[in-house]
This record gives sequence, C-alpha cells and structure tokens, in this order.
Amino acid sequence: MTTTAPSLGSVLTCPECGHAKHEVMPTNACQFFYECERCKAVLRPKAGDFCVFCSFGSVKCPSMQMQHGPPSCGA
Ligand SMILES: [Zn+2]
Repeated sequence: MTTTAPSLGSVLTCPECGHAKHEVMPTNACQFFYECERCKAVLRPKAGDFCVFCSFGSVKCPSMQMQHGPPSCGA
C-alpha cells in the first residue's frame, strides 16, 4: 500500500465570514473560484497563487504538492 498520492481533502476558510468547509480537491484541475456557502462571497486566489485551496485551504492543491511540472491551473 503506497501513500504517494497527495491528500485531496482541504478545509477552505472564508476570509469574509470565517466559515470553514471541508472540500475535496480535483486532481486534474485547480479551482479558481469558490463561493462561500454561508455568506456567498466568491473567493479568488491571492496574487501568486493558482487556486483557492492554495490561498485559503488548509492543504495546498495537488499540483503544488506534487512538485513535478507546473501547476495544471497555471497555464
Ligand atoms: Zn463566507
């Protein structure tokens, strides 16, 4: 049993209202927009980040965890 796969669960915390939600990240794409289910704020990645999980999640997105090749969402 190998555990080389990146963890796909990340807790996104809304910077507007502080609402935290556990989300599962897609492995083949990055999520650029995320709408907070509580305050409906649409989150966008901070400058320099490629996806909302990198900016607001507890875990970096899979592309950033697997440090081979550019992030799939960066192109
Ligand atoms: Zn919110």
